[in-house]
Amino acid sequence: MTDYQIIIGLEVHVQLQTKTKLFCRCSTKFGQPPNTQTCPVCIGLPGALPVMNREAFRLALKTAVALNLEIPEFTKWDRKNYFYPDLPKGYQISQFDLPMSQNGWLAIADPKDEFEPKTIRLTRAHLEDDAGKSMHDEAAGKADSRIDLNRTGTPLLEIVSEPDIRSPREAKAYLNELKLLLTYLGVSDCNMQEGSLRVDGNINLHIDTSDGKVATPIVEVKNMNSFRAVERAMAYEATRQYEVWQEHKIKLGDPGGHKTTRGWDDQKQVTLKQREKEESADYRYFPDPDLLPVIVKPAEVEEVRKNLGELPAQIRERLETAYGIDPYDSDVIVNQGRDVVSYYEELAKSSGDGRRASNWIQQDVLRTLNENEMSITAFSISAASLSELLKAIDSGDVDNTRAKDVFAEMFSTGKSAYEVMTALGIEKVDASAIEALCRELLEANPQVVEDLKAGKMKAVGALIGQAKKRNPNVNPGQFKDLCLKLAEEM
Ligand code: ZN
Ligand code: MN
Repeated sequence: MTDYQIIIGLEVHVQLQTKTKLFCRCSTKFGQPPNTQTCPVCIGLPGALPVMNREAFRLALKTAVALNLEIPEFTKWDRKNYFYPDLPKGYQISQFDLPMSQNGWLAIADPKDEFEPKTIRLTRAHLEDDAGKSMHDEAAGKADSRIDLNRTGTPLLEIVSEPDIRSPREAKAYLNELKLLLTYLGVSDCNMQEGSLRVDGNINLHIDTSDGKVATPIVEVKNMNSFRAVERAMAYEATRQYEVWQEHKIKLGDPGGHKTTRGWDDQKQVTLKQREKEESADYRYFPDPDLLPVIVKPAEVEEVRKNLGELPAQIRERLETAYGIDPYDSDVIVNQGRDVVSYYEELAKSSGDGRRASNWIQQDVLRTLNENEMSITAFSISAASLSELLKAIDSGDVDNTRAKDVFAEMFSTGKSAYEVMTALGIEKVDASAIEALCRELLEANPQVVEDLKAGKMKAVGALIGQAKKRNPNVNPGQFKDLCLKLAEEM
């Protein structure tokens, strides 16, 4: 239907989780009173000298390796000059022509199969220091602007993708996968509300026309405060660009105009044109004379690589092969983080049924955790204890429906599966007792028997209800099968 292709590249700024800032020893703690975490270095007083935070570089290196980026042996710092009130130094310390990493990739897939699994190439990832925060009008309702410099100098890793993303959904999947990876690496808390992860999207369209392909001018979209906002902003922007193009029909060979910046308005669900940054193209980059270049030895990179730990993509694959679960299920489990993965593995191993373990985690365990705002590490039912319940289901000691009650009771009392089952009077019904009950009910209900013989299988429902009333421990599935078999013989 559409005769255009959406082209998206994303720029993600991630705050690295260090105790102190990138070039001074000020704390990076969030939410402190304004301007209480500053020093001559981060507010750029004359004569103050920056010194690189080794830990920040180590976290950046770890991330770069996990993102399959090449790590050059030599990297340096550059000043990106611009004037803005939240940047007291008058420049940002960043990396220009020799970033600490380049040419990597991140594989993405859609658990719901709405797009083919693919690889998004990464242009580069580089380190830089953050600016302060301007607060317009929001400070105590005053109609003025204030600056908080606590954030100034916090380490950021800027991760730039190639324009390989082809839909808003892919954009969201890319961000989810990136965030998951960063969380598993433990390099950032990725809290978007607190600004630890910020996304800018570059988007344009390649439109098929009778004269060939036409590209619309690239628009950079800012102010997207959630991944859902990114998805919506990209979808909105694609439609808007297409409409503008239809109205004006840029001819093939037209320069296509300059890149513009628009902001996402989450209330109105539209992108709005932003003020042009004055001559933003010319940041007059030059090497920072106060900072030494960084030399990264290959052995150091190898050391980081060896200690990365197992990453989300590898874990998903391993869970699928080791426990026979689907990609959708391994995705749900891995998305919950390492602790849930460990819990799942213990449960799958000890219960001997990976699929059942996966279903129980996704339905009952995660629901209970959500309802009680609890993490898996604080969960009162251990994997060993839950595995006892799963084995009881497997051996027919309890049916699935009653097992849910047992689970709820285990959670609230802390008792074991069999303790709860005894307390609830749940026990396996003797096979001969079930058969006797089944015969009795069939004989008492000749109409049901006729219906069953006529192929009206639903008729068995009435008998299951009666059987459960007589003995709540009757397993409905087992009873049903028996009824059908006996009715056949009658
Ligand atoms: Zn400082
Ligand atoms: Mn940047």
